[in-house]
Amino acid sequence: MNSRVDRDEVFVEYTKSICPVCKIVTDAEINVRDNRLYLRKRCPDHGSFEALLYSRADWYFESMRFNKPGTIPLQTQTELSRGCPLDCGLCPDHKQHACLGILEVNSHCNLDCPICFAGSGHHTQGFSLTLDQVEAGLDAFVRAEGQPEVVMLSGGEPTIHPLILEFIVMAKAKGIGMVTLNTNGIRLARDRRFGEELAELEPVIYLQFDGLEEQTHLRLRGRDLRAEKEAALQRCAELGLAVALVAAIERGVNDHEVGAIVRHAISQPAVRSEVFQPVTHAGRHLPFDPMQRLTNPDVITSIVEQLPDWFRPADFFPVPCCFPSCRSVTYVLAEGETVVPIPRLLALEDYLDYVTNRVLPDPSIRGALEKLWSASAVPGSTTVAGQLDCIACGLDSPNVLDQLADRALMIVVQDFQDAYTLNVRQLMKCCVVEIVPDGRLIPFCAYNSVGYREQVWESLSGGHVPAMVPNATALQELLQPTQFGFKTIGEPRREQRDATNIGQGL
Ligand code: SF4
Ligand code: SF4
Ligand code: SF4
Repeated sequence: MNSRVDRDEVFVEYTKSICPVCKIVTDAEINVRDNRLYLRKRCPDHGSFEALLYSRADWYFESMRFNKPGTIPLQTQTELSRGCPLDCGLCPDHKQHACLGILEVNSHCNLDCPICFAGSGHHTQGFSLTLDQVEAGLDAFVRAEGQPEVVMLSGGEPTIHPLILEFIVMAKAKGIGMVTLNTNGIRLARDRRFGEELAELEPVIYLQFDGLEEQTHLRLRGRDLRAEKEAALQRCAELGLAVALVAAIERGVNDHEVGAIVRHAISQPAVRSEVFQPVTHAGRHLPFDPMQRLTNPDVITSIVEQLPDWFRPADFFPVPCCFPSCRSVTYVLAEGETVVPIPRLLALEDYLDYVTNRVLPDPSIRGALEKLWSASAVPGSTTVAGQLDCIACGLDSPNVLDQLADRALMIVVQDFQDAYTLNVRQLMKCCVVEIVPDGRLIPFCAYNSVGYREQVWESLSGGHVPAMVPNATALQELLQPTQFGFKTIGEPRREQRDATNIGQGL
């Protein structure tokens, strides 16, 4: 007699995603196996796909307590038409306003890194925004947010845009609280005059910094950039520019370096935060297996294993303004070899648990913590310093109060979604948007995965940009190279590209 057999996984939820090859919207399911969370979907033309979403299912479920109610923006930019993720955006269904706006001012770069989710480099078919285009994007952001907290100027390499200083001045003049500049550091290292002009405008520098070993640089950036990174850091320290170090982490390349990177960040006077991002498998990237990709728990576990005297997993808390599995953060007080994570001094879960409805010990401390555990938190800014001062009143240890803001280092672990892992449930609460000169504010992970990036690039450059397809090991036989270094499989059907609101709804 036949007997029934149990499945080897627990079905957790139903959602929607996209086919990583042709980008049509698909049904998707999320399952748990061996305490790991996987997303699975099927495209009628390209078959089934599965990817690792989160390597600790227990941490994922625990993080859901930290899901804060979203805030409605003052204005949305598109109509509801085809459903998520084809109506970006923001469309009226989106669940959160934009904590952080990213404006890519060019697609040119002075490097051609083997990993670049934007596909930027020395290619000829690029774009470089005009002052009018930047103003149109910033105005849309201000209309949606009132007084936006942070805009990040990015690229390409924004420091080689001839108008970059004017863009910073313009953003500040429009009342945006803080400007951050996303850079590989080469111009800062080489051009003292530029550094001085920049310092007058006080942006926070988001400096690409993937590790201390030569091999890490060669594999991720194609060149040994260690001397330039150190020179850029020194320049920032001399000029009083606050720095966030941003490390793209790839399994088997530099995941063994996360502890050394944290140590280095603590030793640098200009550095106020360390941002770890598992490599985003969009644009250009090394071949990868979606079932073995790095996720936030892997990065946190590596930090703890490599710095066991300083950290434990419970020091990292999910950020409540976005979907809680997107981003985890801790703050530490650091002085030499003494490092104290702030969550050990304050019962964070009493303040940031939005589900259990506990009585808050002090609502003003919850407000301060919401600002600190947010995508808009920019260490080195007066806002963050003020919030650190505020939570100091709630800390258990009065002797750490002196110069709290000066001694605090923020550590962020942020896993962006790609065309394999895209989950609309997570995307609909995204609080990081790409500001497009045509006025749309497109959630960052949709921009990189669904086809928006190629459309915007085409409309700004006037030339053809092939649809980006992930460089996954299982797709190698389908993939073709492009002049931009990322992979494609040729043209998707026209109606799919037209479904994403380019030039519509404004
Ligand atoms: S991601 Fe947000 S803005 Fe885009 S379609 Fe979905 S709900 Fe709308
Ligand atoms: S990752 Fe940054 S530095 Fe490297 S090519 Fe892309 S834009 Fe340039
Ligand atoms: S950009 Fe991606 S990872 Fe970040 S908040 Fe938005 S959906 Fe989450």
